[in-house]
Amino acid sequence: MGKPMPAVFFGHGNPMNALQDNAYTRGWAVIGKEVTRPKAVLSISAHWYIPGTSVTAMPAPRTIHDFGGFPPELYRILYPAPGDPALADRVRGLLAPMSVSPDGAWGLDHGTWTVLRHVFPRADIPVVQVSMNQRMPLADHLEVGRKLAPLRDEGVLIMGSGNITHNLPHAMASYQHGESSTPDWAIRFDADVARSAEKHDTDFLIRAVENDDGRMAHPTLDHYLPLLYVAGASDAGDTVHFPITGFDLASLSMRAISFG
Ligand code: ZN
Repeated sequence: MGKPMPAVFFGHGNPMNALQDNAYTRGWAVIGKEVTRPKAVLSISAHWYIPGTSVTAMPAPRTIHDFGGFPPELYRILYPAPGDPALADRVRGLLAPMSVSPDGAWGLDHGTWTVLRHVFPRADIPVVQVSMNQRMPLADHLEVGRKLAPLRDEGVLIMGSGNITHNLPHAMASYQHGESSTPDWAIRFDADVARSAEKHDTDFLIRAVENDDGRMAHPTLDHYLPLLYVAGASDAGDTVHFPITGFDLASLSMRAISFG
């Protein structure tokens, strides 16, 4: 058996990254060039956070433009990667007896495609998304990641897409006021999470959002939870890298974390 595929957390940030060429998008492209070509990508995105666990099971997932107020060219972008119904079945098997619904309606949301457009620009690697169940406690999200870990030995790249810090009201206010200095809570939380990821300290990662910095960093949990899936799919034998670091819109961490 070869080396397992990595599990990678991406900070996706602003949807406009799909169209832009900047330090983050160039970093994503480098990740795609350096990784062994996966058989498929399994994505857990901040933007599919629903009251249940579903897996996209269609052969040709649509590109979902799940945002408002952006220029028309962003809505014209398609990421026509195929789906992988067999992988969707495998995911349901790995997560049994948990109930996982095969989904024919979702597709690839912008947490997935704005990043993958740079990582795998040819869109020729099948992509499957798993939703995050709003009703689950944090430890259970990590546990789902743990159950998905065997896929890494089957050539599947597991990606989580969110942001290590994601206080959107703060980021938007900073943008409007032309404020670019990163607040201390964001610097501290980003560093604490990075250090814990390096130590494989999943107990810390499950509890991180409970302290003051964590509550500032995540008024809602959707952009944090994808990290728990990736950390859950990792083990102590993985090397941890940070291929991308930095903050966009003052307080939005764009850090990527690669396990493996
Ligand atoms: Zn987002």
